Amino acid sequence: MGVVSISAFGPGTSRVADPRIQAQVVLYAVGGMLYTPTVPDTPDWLQGLNPQQLQAVTHGDGPLLIIAGAGTGKTNTLAHRVAWLIHEGVQPGRILLLTFTRRAAQEMLNRAQAVCQAATTKVWGGTFHSMANRLLRTYGRVVGLQPEFTVMDESDSADMLGLIRAQMGLTSKEKRFPRKSTVRSIYSRVVNSREPLELVLKKEYPWCVEAEEGLRTIFNTYTKRKHARQVLDYDDLLLFWNLALEDATVAEAMGARFDHILVDEYQDTNIIQAEILQRLRQKNHNITVVGDDAQSIYSFRAATIKNILEFPNQFPGTTVVTLEQNYRSIQPILDVGNAVMKPAPHRYTKNLFAVREGKQKPVLVTCRDEDEQVKVVCDQILEHLEQGIKLQQQAVLFRAGHHSDQLEIELARRNIPFHKYGGLKFLEAAHVKDLLALLRILENPRDDMSWFRVLEMLEGVGPKTAERFVADLEARTYDLAVLGQITMPAAAHDQFTALAQTLNSLRQEELPVAAQVERLRRFYEPFLATLYDNPKPRLRDLEQLEAVAQRYKSRSSFISDLTLDPPDTTADFAGPPFKDEDWLVLSTMHSAKGCEWKAVYVIHAADGMIPSDMATDDDDSIEEERRLFYVAVTRAKDWLYVVFPLRYYYKRYPLGDAHAYAQLTRFAPANVQRLMDARGGTSLETHAGPPTDEEIRAKIARYWDRRF
Ligand code: ATP
Ligand code: MG
Repeated sequence: MGVVSISAFGPGTSRVADPRIQAQVVLYAVGGMLYTPTVPDTPDWLQGLNPQQLQAVTHGDGPLLIIAGAGTGKTNTLAHRVAWLIHEGVQPGRILLLTFTRRAAQEMLNRAQAVCQAATTKVWGGTFHSMANRLLRTYGRVVGLQPEFTVMDESDSADMLGLIRAQMGLTSKEKRFPRKSTVRSIYSRVVNSREPLELVLKKEYPWCVEAEEGLRTIFNTYTKRKHARQVLDYDDLLLFWNLALEDATVAEAMGARFDHILVDEYQDTNIIQAEILQRLRQKNHNITVVGDDAQSIYSFRAATIKNILEFPNQFPGTTVVTLEQNYRSIQPILDVGNAVMKPAPHRYTKNLFAVREGKQKPVLVTCRDEDEQVKVVCDQILEHLEQGIKLQQQAVLFRAGHHSDQLEIELARRNIPFHKYGGLKFLEAAHVKDLLALLRILENPRDDMSWFRVLEMLEGVGPKTAERFVADLEARTYDLAVLGQITMPAAAHDQFTALAQTLNSLRQEELPVAAQVERLRRFYEPFLATLYDNPKPRLRDLEQLEAVAQRYKSRSSFISDLTLDPPDTTADFAGPPFKDEDWLVLSTMHSAKGCEWKAVYVIHAADGMIPSDMATDDDDSIEEERRLFYVAVTRAKDWLYVVFPLRYYYKRYPLGDAHAYAQLTRFAPANVQRLMDARGGTSLETHAGPPTDEEIRAKIARYWDRRF
């Protein structure tokens, strides 16, 4: 069987054995295997689940696939399943829960703990990348990794590629060679999709086709250099994990660590991740995956919905459960979501039906320009706050990180606190990276990118001296004890001596992670004022970093966590004391995946923004943008505002009023608009003539019906 469509799973019906839940269950079986539910003793904490959810939660051994639409309780079911397994006696430390972000794993484990009152702290929960990092420290030797390898983030990896490109003289050629960030994306695409470089260039980067030979040489050097330095980039984590599993003994040992593996958002995994799972489940077949093909939004990272559709083939005997009702949103919001998805060519999950009651239609707000969009959104947020919807229950969603720039300024002006998901710049800040580079050197003295960063802070040290230094250190087998013997330019003498002493003292003493950070911060402090402006707030950032370090037992896990699972918001960083403050959520549509809020504002709903004008050249990309818009819309529980500015001013002419007219996103054509209430921003309202009877009635209703 090739790609399996849901229609291939013959529907079967059965009755739940437990007399307390006698509702009829519609179940799906694969290959003639009918799923017969038996739930002898259902604990009270499972009572709220519907029959299909309950069956998934209490499923016994063997592969299980839950394929269902947005808000149908997939994640909730998975969290309950973790609780159920622990209740059934599975040791928490033998459960592996793979999610898309650290936040998602934490929330699910908290939920599981809350429902069954059993500790879930020992569960292995996190992203594929962070689990790879953890397991490779133990099993990495078979693929040539020392346990102290370090992981570099995407910008470090681009820097390394940039350096190699420069060393090869590929920057000075007459024809422009792709920029380092493009080189990085091409590399990532090749390794994750497993497609040949030539094909990737032709399909995805046609303007770089001529650079093929140069790219190939760069990639070869990059791979060799990383290996020699014992540094991995993000993609390597998955590659090496998979590679380690090619070894039968390792595959058996690693697989035997986990009695159950559970994966959320399976539609956004790639071919390597699917292979890793298969290799981990050769003997024990306990694996549960959940996903929704209509929400697959990461194909630009080589994710493929084939994984979810072919799961029953890869894991013979799979039980497939579908969930039908949506518990999140009221029907008018789902009507819009369904209509947005109607033209999508391939769909397996069906239209969504609401369980919750509520009649207010989503609102389509047309604004004169971006200024008005910002004003309308802030006004509406405050109005909902007055009505009792906390800021944390409200979110503004947008296609690209910078789309909230103007809004952020206005929120600050009005003293509305907010946190931004998917856009935290803290760890990308140069001074934070400087301090982390010092920590990385201690962890792995071969990490030359970190050395370059640190050495170039010193007076009179440029790239040439730094390279010579690293070569010298290599000749001395990266021994930090002899650091002081390496000669440096006279101008750098004092600073370098201080550096060598600091690193040496930390190498010899066994200090807690926070104390190490503190000592490095003291060394680094004098550099702040000379290297950057605004040293004071930067210093506070470093103190915050030190506070976070207190939660860690080992330097290695502190560095890996910050690199692999950086905090989503400043709230993650702030720790418990600030948790009950209220704040609004700003998020990219991608980072809103899996989340929900009472009121959602989708801003910049203009063509060119969503779909992004970067994605308008082929049908597949457009369809992915459609799914992204669908993800955004289906985050709302009660209130949905789709906001669209008519005019965009050209930033190039800040004093003039040169502007272009935008068009409403193509994902909201007439049939979608009919399902929404149309509203103008304030300026449009004044131009719109006298209010209609309906508007007057609505305004009056506001005084007596707070739900309006
Ligand atoms: P998405 O596709 O967006 O990730 P999902 O399928 O994972 O959505 P959840 O986030 O698990 O859905 O659930 C959506 C909402 O429905 C949550 O608020 C959850 O608590 C609620 N919910 C799920 N199942 C039930 C149920 N049986 N009874 C009441 N509420 C439920
Ligand atoms: Mg979910």
